[in-house]
Formats: sequence, C-alpha cells, structure tokens
Amino acid sequence: MTKTRGIYIHIPFCTGKCFYCDFYSVKANENLMAKYVSALKCEIRSSAGKFSEAVADTLYFGGGTPSLVGAERIAEIIKTVKDCFPAAFGEVSMECNPQPDIDYAAYRDAGVDRLSMGVQSLDDETLRLSGRRHSASEAAEALERAGRVFGNISADVMLGLPAQSVRSAVETVSRLAERLKHVSMYMLKLEKGTALYKSVSEKTVSLPSEDETVDMYDACMAELHKKGIYRYEISNFAVKGFESRHNLKYWHREEYLGFGAAAHGFADNIRYANPRSLNAYIAGLNFASGGAESYAVSSEDAEEEAVMLALRTDKGLDVERFNAEFGSDFFSRFSDAIEKCRELTEFDGRFFRIKPRKLLFESYVAREFMR
Ligand code: SF4
Repeated sequence: MTKTRGIYIHIPFCTGKCFYCDFYSVKANENLMAKYVSALKCEIRSSAGKFSEAVADTLYFGGGTPSLVGAERIAEIIKTVKDCFPAAFGEVSMECNPQPDIDYAAYRDAGVDRLSMGVQSLDDETLRLSGRRHSASEAAEALERAGRVFGNISADVMLGLPAQSVRSAVETVSRLAERLKHVSMYMLKLEKGTALYKSVSEKTVSLPSEDETVDMYDACMAELHKKGIYRYEISNFAVKGFESRHNLKYWHREEYLGFGAAAHGFADNIRYANPRSLNAYIAGLNFASGGAESYAVSSEDAEEEAVMLALRTDKGLDVERFNAEFGSDFFSRFSDAIEKCRELTEFDGRFFRIKPRKLLFESYVAREFMR
C-alpha cells in the first residue's frame, strides 16, 4: 500500500490581533509577505528528498490568515509542493476570515477546495469585545459569497467569549448549520499576555463562567446534531463524509510535513517544530524541517500519543489496530489508567473511547494514560 502523508503550511499574517489570540501571527505587510512566501518555497524545495517516500494527499494552509497572501501566492506554493513531493490531493484547505473584498473563485482556481472561515460568533457585541474585525452581517455575507464557489466550507466558532450567552451561541451555530457542512467549536482559553487577559484582569470585561461555557457547548452540540452535523472529534462537527481529512491525520497519528515559521511536522518517527520567528525564518535560519527543534519519538511515547489523540475522537481508539501497530496489548499496557477511568470510558469490542457524554473530560483521561 502506498504511504500517504499530509502537508501543513503556516502563514502567520493577520490584519490585526484578536483580543484573545496567542497564536504566532504578525501584522500583514506586502513586503514581508513576499519575502515570507519566497522563504517558504525555499524550505519546501530544500525538504524534497529528505523524508521517506510518501504521497501527499492533504494540504492545509493554516494561520494567521493565509488568504491574506493572495491567490497567486497560494497557487505558487501549491505548485512548489507538487514539484517537490509526489502529490494526489484529496483535500486542499485554507483558513480565511470574513473579508469583504476576497475573490473566492481565485482561491478555488489556485487549487483550494475547502475553506475554514473564522466566524467565531454571529453576535456583534461579542465580535466587538473579542477584537474581531468583522460584523455578524459581514460574516453571513462572506459565507453566502464563499458558498457560491465552495461546496466544502467549515466555520470556526469560539465559546466563552465576552457578552456571549447560551442563547446567542446556539443562534450562531444554528444559522451556520443552515448553510455549512462542518463546524469547529473551541472553548476560549484565556491566555496570559493577550489583550483579553488584561481586560478581564482589570475587570473592564467579564467572561461567561466555565459552567456556562460548558452549557454553551452542550446546547450547541445538540443544535448541530438536530441539523445533521455530528461530532467526530471533541471540537469538530460535520455532516457525514465532510470530516476534515487533514485534521483526522493528527488524531489518527498519521504523518504530516509542516512548513513555515512556527510550523510543526511529524514524519519518519521524528517530531519537529520550526522557530516562532518570522525574521529567523526569512533569513533561512534554523528551519528546513528538522533544523530547529526535533526529537525521535520513543516507542513508549508513540503508544501514549496514539491513545491520547484517538481519545479526542468520538470513535475512539481502534484497539486491534493499536495492538498490531505497536505489537502491544492495549488492555495490559494501560490497565491502571483503564481502571481509573472506568466510569468515563467504554469498549465496544473494537473501539475504546470516552463515553460520548463525558468527552469534555478528555484532558483528565489523557493525563491518566500519559503517566
Ligand atoms: S485572525 Fe486568527 S490568528 Fe489572526 S489574530 Fe485573530 S485569532 Fe489570531
């Protein structure tokens, strides 16, 4: 069987910083973007032949806001990837934000076939207090225009944002579900160093409580299920057949190459991370996939990773596959953790999983399996 792997390209530009964001991103500027894309192509070229043979079957542009570099550069990057690696893409995703001036057809013509749009909320007050640069009506209009071009669109929704209620969150996902086949729903993590952290510490902005945020998650999930959009991973919901093929690779512990500043990759049993510095990256320092930080994954860690990642999914861990892949016996290897998490987990004869109603305890369960 031909080996396959995904390719992740990080484009760290944004038009401004959202108040809650601690991702690696910098303010977009034409000169910097041109230099960055050249460095990116250089990194991709210099990686050709470095890894064992595999067909690249998914490509994912994440950010930042990858669409900001423009469709022409996206096309150049895709061409460079295809020139350097055997490729048969079954999915080419690009993250974007609701921008009024975006020409969606140009990105489709560049080779993108799936969009992931950062909507976050369809409530104007929540958007404003979160530092988003679009209104609810602009987001709805962007989805409408993108929908005329793309048949596969996902929207990101954030839960636990300022001025958000269970009702407004449900209304957001309900409207999204009317036109989309995939929704990703994340709970806000208030990170130190962000503008939102400061406002909350200074008590100029308040956030919903943790319990309210969990209620939002449950209510939004119920609403999505009503509309035929099912959870397949703790934060991801899709109409059957529209699950993100690229992201599934992460949870199935499959290989992917990562290119760009702050990109991560996993191939030939090595995990690596490029530096979180645009200047170092452009200068060609410490990158080239494996040049920055990298480590070989021990077989013990590989087993723990496989369990931890699979437990994020609704399907859970394929025990037969795990035993065959690692020459191990899952139930004896993890007997202590399984015993401790007995109330939270179930086994159907093939898949070991967290009970559907308990999936939000995933980080607790994962910790037990990683001891
Ligand atoms: S658009 Fe996304 S990556 Fe950019 S600042 Fe906002 S949350 Fe962060």
